[in-house]
Amino acid sequence: MKEITGETKLFGILADPIHHVKTPQRMNEYFARAGYDGVLVPFHARSDNLAPVLNGLKRLENLGGIIVTVPHKTAILALCDDASDLTRKIGAANVVRREPDGRLTAHMLDGEGFVRGLRSCGHEVKGKTAYMVGAGGAANAIAFALLRYGVSCLTIANRTVAKAEDLKSRVLDLYPQACINIGTSDPSGHDIVINATSLGLKEGDALPLDASKLRTGQVVCEVIMQPVETAMLQAARERGCAVHYGAPMLACQIELMAEFLGVTAAG
Ligand code: NDP
Repeated sequence: MKEITGETKLFGILADPIHHVKTPQRMNEYFARAGYDGVLVPFHARSDNLAPVLNGLKRLENLGGIIVTVPHKTAILALCDDASDLTRKIGAANVVRREPDGRLTAHMLDGEGFVRGLRSCGHEVKGKTAYMVGAGGAANAIAFALLRYGVSCLTIANRTVAKAEDLKSRVLDLYPQACINIGTSDPSGHDIVINATSLGLKEGDALPLDASKLRTGQVVCEVIMQPVETAMLQAARERGCAVHYGAPMLACQIELMAEFLGVTAAG
């Protein structure tokens, strides 16, 4: 990292809890590689303080932007001044840029990061069937990205079924011809299987899906980064599936976030 001076641009990641986040390490490494004079630090804020925290941060003239993660991705969108149509349809944001006039522009990159991460490991989504468990912030973004990149059919399963139904109807608004089903815990018959819930983060968590139904030939994907190999991935590996970890999703997002935040390599 460059020496921090009065010229250094400030970035942060807003989360609660915050101890597990990997973005500060990854983004500061990126700044160092690019020779960029910036620093990203953890901002630990509770949900009931999100609005006043953001209101104060946006008044910092040297703030470049903010990365946003659990549990703030949905709430942050309503607190920002601008967002793309797609971000509004997804209904959640994970990066916010401070414009020179102090306005905040929100964007969502979880979906793009997930699909790019998958492709970087040799797994194409075009023409494939996908099963995704989850309907939270990350799952919403992933669903839109899977359709954008051409999955032939998407099955969404979620503990709160109404949230899966709501996600399905918003995706269909944008992709009226899409094949989208609401599923159970059974991922049978799909090429790509994705856990987009937070189940697996904690030791002793239940499996997010019925792993006894996994079969050789399926690519089983995780969004969780810690632990690196969740119980679901372990079960998938034992059943002969290809496994895809959570880390490439973040690695691909770091570049996309830096681009959105206007981080430019030193000439
Ligand atoms: P949200 O809080 O928005 O969504 C959580 C999801 O998990 C919901 O679908 C929720 O279901 C489900 N869930 C939570 N607890 C349970 C449970 N006990 N049983 C069944 N379902 C449960 O979180 P995000 O979508 O923002 O994040 C999800 C995960 O993705 C996190 O682990 C996060 O760390 C990871 N992530 C990883 C990234 C990466 O780069 N690798 C990037 C972004 C996120 P319900 O709707 O019923 O509550």
